[in-house]
Amino acid sequence: MARYNGPVCRFCRREGVKLFLKGARCLSAKCAIDRRSYPPGEHGQNRAKSSEYGLQLREKQKVKRIYGVLERQFRKTFKIASRKKGNTGQSLLAALEMRLDSVVYHIGWGASRTESRMLVTHGHILVNGRKVNIPSYSCKVNDAISLAPSMRTSERVQGNFRDAELRGVVSSWLDVDKNSFSATVKDIPQRDAINILISENLVVELYSR
Ligand code: SF4
Repeated sequence: MARYNGPVCRFCRREGVKLFLKGARCLSAKCAIDRRSYPPGEHGQNRAKSSEYGLQLREKQKVKRIYGVLERQFRKTFKIASRKKGNTGQSLLAALEMRLDSVVYHIGWGASRTESRMLVTHGHILVNGRKVNIPSYSCKVNDAISLAPSMRTSERVQGNFRDAELRGVVSSWLDVDKNSFSATVKDIPQRDAINILISENLVVELYSR
């Protein structure tokens, strides 16, 4: 599947908020949005006010960029979420959080969702004891996620795990066992447990047009 491999800090600058796409760098003085807080591009500093549609579109782009999902997959996830009972926006965010790459990020093994995605695609993540290398795999309640034995001594992964709390990624809906390099999905994440500044209702309004 196609992936965007270009610079990602421009996404934060475009949206005007930190999307935390680069791990530790996002908390350092090197963060691009702290240094240049205007949108990228030649006309970045003189953009016009957004219309209602523009605001909805920007909110959708923000969600897509945070989770590293392209349009087609995002629409598919939205379609599934809209068929569920309850608030569609919350179901959408819950479905995105339950993606395997996102779960690995919340456990803390990857410094960013991109790095977590790489751990998955390279076959370093097991779900209920079996290797799963599909980042969009949708985890279920009671799934046991573990790190492949070959990666348990990786200094990079151990460092990421130590810093997870600092980065604010630790989630209440996961039961993480530090000693066995594993975690269990306790529950479907509720909105108050999803720590991202998004107005998901704007995304629903956009797709309801
Ligand atoms: Fe965004 Fe992180 Fe880049 Fe800062 S360092 S602009 S938060 S991706």
